[in-house]
Amino acid sequence: MKTIIGNWKMQVGVRESVALARGMLQNLRGKKVLPEIIICPSFVALSDVRKIVTRSHIALGAQDLFWEETGAYTGEISPRILTELGISFVLIGHSERRQYLGETDEMIGKKMRQAFQSALTPVLCVGETAEERQQGKTQEIVEQQLQAALKGVMIPSGAQLFIAYEPRWAIGTGVVATPEDAVAVHREIRQQISTLIPSLRAENLHVLYGGSVDGSNAYAFLREKEVDGVLVGGASVKLTQMQEVLSAAMEAMEGAAHQ
Ligand code: PEP
Repeated sequence: MKTIIGNWKMQVGVRESVALARGMLQNLRGKKVLPEIIICPSFVALSDVRKIVTRSHIALGAQDLFWEETGAYTGEISPRILTELGISFVLIGHSERRQYLGETDEMIGKKMRQAFQSALTPVLCVGETAEERQQGKTQEIVEQQLQAALKGVMIPSGAQLFIAYEPRWAIGTGVVATPEDAVAVHREIRQQISTLIPSLRAENLHVLYGGSVDGSNAYAFLREKEVDGVLVGGASVKLTQMQEVLSAAMEAMEGAAHQ
C-alpha cells in the first residue's frame, strides 16, 4: 500500500478546500486500486471538508497540534479538538514550522508524545538544509531529529508511525531529491527507528518522501519499494497534479502486485 498525503498549507481558503475535496472524490470514482489518501487542510477548513470526505476513502489530517490537551494557550489547537472533529492524522515538525515559527526538537518531541496519547497518528517531518547536505551531514541531522522527536515516546501497540523525509532544500523549490538519495535516507530512517523503537512492527512504520513532488516525478519515487508514499505540498492544491500523483501511486501498486 502506498500513502499519498496532501499538505494544503495556508494555500487555499475554506470554499476552495471544499471544492478541492469534492473534485478529488469525483476523480476517484470507479477506481479500484486506491492508495491511502490523507489530506491536511487548514484548521478552519477541517470541519467543512470533513462533511465532504466523511465515509469516503479520503482521511483527514491536521497540519499541527499543541502538546497540551486543554488550557490557556491562545491560538493553539488541542489534540482533543482534532479528535472531536474526526481527524486521524497530524503533521508534526514540518520544516516551515521549524523555520518560521521557531519550532524546536523539544517542542516536536512533546507534540509526538501528545499525538500518541490522543490516539492521533503522527506524520513526523525530518530533513536537512542545503548547507547541511553540502557538509555531508544528512544522516547525522535526520538521526538527531528522529532521536529528539521520539525520546520518551510511548507508542501504543498497533499504532502507526509515519516519517516524512523532506529535505528542506526541496520543499517548495521545484528541486527534488533523486529517488536514489531518498531511498538511501529511507533505509537509514528504518534502521534508526528499529533501534529507537524496537517494539514497532515494520508494517506499522511508513516512510514517505516529500519535497517538490508533483505529477511529473511522483512515479519515480513511488515505484521504489522503500518509499511507502509521498507528502505533496504545492502540487496537492492543484486538482490535476494531485490526480496524476494518485494515478502514479495506483500504477506503482499495480506494478508491485504483479511482481
Ligand atoms: C510539504 O509541504 O511538505 C512539501 C513537501 O511541499 P512541496 O511539495 O511544495 O515541496
